[in-house]
Parts: sequence; structure tokens; C-alpha cells
Amino acid sequence: MSKRQLPENLGVETLAIRAAELRTDEMSHSEALFLTSSFVYENAAQAAARFAGTESGNIYSRFTNPTVRSFEQRLAALEGGEQCVAFASGMAAINAVFMACLKPGDHIVSSRSLFGTTHVLYDKYLRKFGIDVTLVDINDLGQWRAAMTARTRFLFLETPSNPLAEVADIAALADIAHAGEAQLIVDNCLCTPALQRPLLLGADIVIHSATKYLDGQGRCLGGAVVGRAADMAEVYGYLRTAGATLSAFNAWVFLKGLETLSLRMHAHSANALALAKWLREQPGIDRVHYAGLTDHPYHQLALSQQSGFGGVLSFEVRDRAGKADRDAAWRFIDATRLVSITANLGDVKTTITHPGTTTHGRVAEEEKRRAGISDNLIRVAVGLEGLEDLKADMRRGLAGLGFGE
Ligand SMILES: *Cc1c(COP(=O)(O)O)cnc(C)c1O
Repeated sequence: MSKRQLPENLGVETLAIRAAELRTDEMSHSEALFLTSSFVYENAAQAAARFAGTESGNIYSRFTNPTVRSFEQRLAALEGGEQCVAFASGMAAINAVFMACLKPGDHIVSSRSLFGTTHVLYDKYLRKFGIDVTLVDINDLGQWRAAMTARTRFLFLETPSNPLAEVADIAALADIAHAGEAQLIVDNCLCTPALQRPLLLGADIVIHSATKYLDGQGRCLGGAVVGRAADMAEVYGYLRTAGATLSAFNAWVFLKGLETLSLRMHAHSANALALAKWLREQPGIDRVHYAGLTDHPYHQLALSQQSGFGGVLSFEVRDRAGKADRDAAWRFIDATRLVSITANLGDVKTTITHPGTTTHGRVAEEEKRRAGISDNLIRVAVGLEGLEDLKADMRRGLAGLGFGE
């Protein structure tokens, strides 16, 4: 392994490329991929020492793997956290934090503007184990405060939220959490550390679906948790036992993805902002939700804690006859020809989806309405194709509503 030490105080762009470089004695420039399930020992005594924990080192890739570790260390450096534990998916990461750190009777206060599957995790599984969740409006600090009880262990949110780009004040929520001896968890999937570093704003734990922008090209599933060493020891203990381990191959893909993270996030942001501004001027578009728009209710707050607004925007459509319903949204989507009709996001390929019947399809009707997921809402995760080509495709969507062409 290389003995050259990385200089201190490197910027995020540099860390994404240089932190935790994994170099073997072969001195390959690109990170090595350790595609192995287990590791061997010099002799029986060494095997015993590894298992007893008296000697550190690799045993089995469910526990540790050098490629996975390199990804973990790089992401920890990017987030400004002490340690990172990688998982097989974003949901596995979220579930692991709850399973490792909570017990029956514990309580979570959570934003209601959440990735749909996180709602299902709350309702169907956590409640079954006696863990109660109170949902609040993401930016109403009074609701967060009022919902806390003596049993509250975590405050949980995504900011900006998907698909409505609502933004929460991370520093203020960290203060509220800590005043009640709870911890603040931020799902930083939409911004990534290239645009926002929640731990530096006071959050205790950051969650990632690496499947999205960390990969960046829609290839692999993965997740991660970043935070203090003591908390991560609990999370790691659960991973080692429960086994939703990130594969070394996927970790290697994510390492390559991270190298272009800053570049991509700023390009996604620029494309999304331009498209949001353009969409807003079009007939058939009722509202555009994107925090980069200066009159968006969360614009100033987003500016204060993000260095870009990300690639996800959403908008509400209304057809020429005045109908603003699911049918109008589906017609818009079906009239496009370039963008991909898929619920994934964080890809160089632009994607379009109808949240009400896909990502949030399993969320109860009442909860969907309260979270602002209307029937005529469309989400676009803006990729890196040419802006004019994206506009032309949105124009096809508008033609599906009876406008133009
Ligand atoms: C996709 C996503 C998840 C879940 O990640 P998976 O890798 O699909 O398990 C969690 N949170 C947010 C905000 C997401 O977009």
C-alpha cells in the first residue's frame, strides 16, 4: 500500500477523487477491486487471533472488504464524518440505523415529505416492533418541537425533499433534537456532499442511497450511513450480523462515480435550474417546484445551506381543457420520447415519473395529500443531456396536453 500521505484541508472536489485511494503493491492507478468473499491467514494461530479480535484484519466480506472500506472512508471524508458504514441499498442503511439504535417504546419524529418506502418502513415494520413515529411538516419547527417526547431518539428528514424540493433548516433542527437529547438524521440523497454537508451544520447522522447520485449513472444499488464513531460502531455491529452488506463490485463502481460527483452535481443543478425557469413560462404548467427559483418559498433557506439546488424538480400540469388530474399527467409523460419513464433519479439520463402512482404509490391517500403529492404532479430528475433537447421533449409533453404542435 502507498505510504504517501494525503495533504490536509482538501476541498470536496479533491476528496471525492483522492480520499482513501486504494493502492496495492502492484501500484495500479485506479482503485483495486477486491472481489473476494473471504480472506486467508498465514496459519491457524492468525485465524484464531483474527476471530478473537486480538489482531485486526479482514476475515469475511460481510464484515469488511478493502474496496468497500475505501468507499466508506471516501464518503466519510466528503461528509466530514468520523466513520461511514456502507450497505447493499439506501433502505438497508436506513433500516440498519433504526434496528441498531432503537428499542421498543422509542419514538421518531419524522418529516412527512419522505421517500415512499421509508413511510412503509415506519408503518409496516417499525410500528410492529413498538417504535412509534410522529410525522410533521418538514419546515414547521413548532411541529417538530411539539412532537418530541421523553422517548424521542431520532428526528429524521430528507432535505431537499423529493419530489417537492421542500427545504428544512438543518442547524435549527439539530438544536431542537439536541435540546431533547435526540439525534438528527438527514437523508442527504438529493444534494450529496458536493452540495450540502449536514454533519457540518449540526446533524448527527447522514444517510445515503448511493444508488442515486453517488453512482450517478444508474448502475448499482448501495447505501451508506455516516456519523460519529460510537454511533457507527452500533450500526456496523448490526450490519455484520444482519448482513445487508455492500458488494465490493458496487463499492468500486461508487468509487469511480464519486470521482465525478462535484462536476455532475453542478451540471445537474445548472440543467435543472434552466429547465425549471423555462417550464414555468409554459402554458399547461400550473406550478414548478424547484428551490433554485428565486420565488420558491425555500429559496433563501436552500441558499444558506446548499451550494447548488440539485437535479430534481417537479411540476403540476393542466391540460388545454382545464383538467389537472392523473390522466393529464400520464398523457404528458407518455408524449415524451427522450427522457426515460422510470422512477429512479440521480442518473446522467433524465427521468420522468408520476410520483402519485409510482414512488409514492403505496403511501396512504390522506398522507399523500398532506405531503402535497397531487394527482397532476410530475417529477423530472434532470440529467446531463443537452438543455435544448430536454426542452424539446418537454414541449412534446405539453403537446400531449393539447398545447402547441
Ligand atoms: C432512493 C432513495 C432511498 C432508498 O434507496 P435505495 O438505494 O433505493 O434502497 C432513500 N432515500 C431517498 C431520498 C431516495 O431517493
